[in-house]
Amino acid sequence: MEQQQVNNNKLTLLKGSQNRIRQAPKPQPKKADQIAAELPGKLQTTLLLDELLPLFQKQISQVLHFDSFHYLNKALGSQIDEGEQRHHRCHYKLEMNGEYLGELTLTRRHKFTEAQITLLEDLLCLLVYPLRNCLLYKQALDSAMLDKLTGLGNRAAYENSLQREIELAQRQQTALSMVIVDIDNFKAINDRYGHSGGDRALKTLANTINQTLRRSDLAFRFGGEEFVLLLSNTEIGAAGMVAERLRIAVAETLCHDGKHGFGFTISLGLAQLQADEQSYHLFERADMALYEAKHTGKNVTVCARQP
Ligand code: GH3
Ligand code: MG
Ligand code: MG
Repeated sequence: MEQQQVNNNKLTLLKGSQNRIRQAPKPQPKKADQIAAELPGKLQTTLLLDELLPLFQKQISQVLHFDSFHYLNKALGSQIDEGEQRHHRCHYKLEMNGEYLGELTLTRRHKFTEAQITLLEDLLCLLVYPLRNCLLYKQALDSAMLDKLTGLGNRAAYENSLQREIELAQRQQTALSMVIVDIDNFKAINDRYGHSGGDRALKTLANTINQTLRRSDLAFRFGGEEFVLLLSNTEIGAAGMVAERLRIAVAETLCHDGKHGFGFTISLGLAQLQADEQSYHLFERADMALYEAKHTGKNVTVCARQP
């Protein structure tokens, strides 16, 4: 991979497929000049990555033919793949002040000409600042949705995801199960091992949840020592097995602070979304199951009866 300094300070473009030393910009046809002149204004109209990149794609497609457009930023979990991938490709790793901004790839059947690559690079230079703003905005939004202690989604993230998952399950007629997890006798853990011991238990539970769930499952810290799991494409029988796997894993795990080691248990209540059921009702049924679990001795899983 060849690294190029495109302007004398901030922007670095790393170019992949076609080796070429960049020359002074060649004059572009009028249409390209016009697009380049309009592009900064257009790209400034949004802070959303999901809007910015399609906007950029649409604008550059007016002056440059390509069959597919790809953007990947693994660290931020952003990926866009548009069109059918072809043999010839232009690949750029975008950086600014050493800050990674993602990777952009265009592909097509025919080789990109020198003039087209120059044009694309000129247009990419106009993308990096708005792209960086969108990435910063996304990071801010993402961190507002995160529980700082456990790294899981917080209550706000839960509210967002629940509505989306319910709509998806109802539209696609697939199963959705909710599991509410509550640490048993958490107050006693705080009393005995201090607040930091309690915090350690919360982190341990979050780690065990991450290790136990599938990638497609969603986990949130709902508040205090209560967590909610949303299991898509999962009927209550299978959700019960996941819940039991988690309950047993937690019971077998020790928290350590260097000096003490202690264990704890969890109780779980779960329910499967019914046709036309509202989110609050699903939560209410899972919460009632959890209530039953607490009143039948704790360290158990209880499934809500299907109404
Ligand atoms: P049960 O078995 O019935 O669930 O009882 P419990 O003691 O777990 O539940 P209870 O609701 O009586 O107490 C919850 C405690 O959780 C009280 C509160 O101080 C503590 N807590 C809430 N949030 C946090 C936190 O972020 N860190 C720590 N260390 N403690 C917390
Ligand atoms: Mg509790
Ligand atoms: Mg509780």
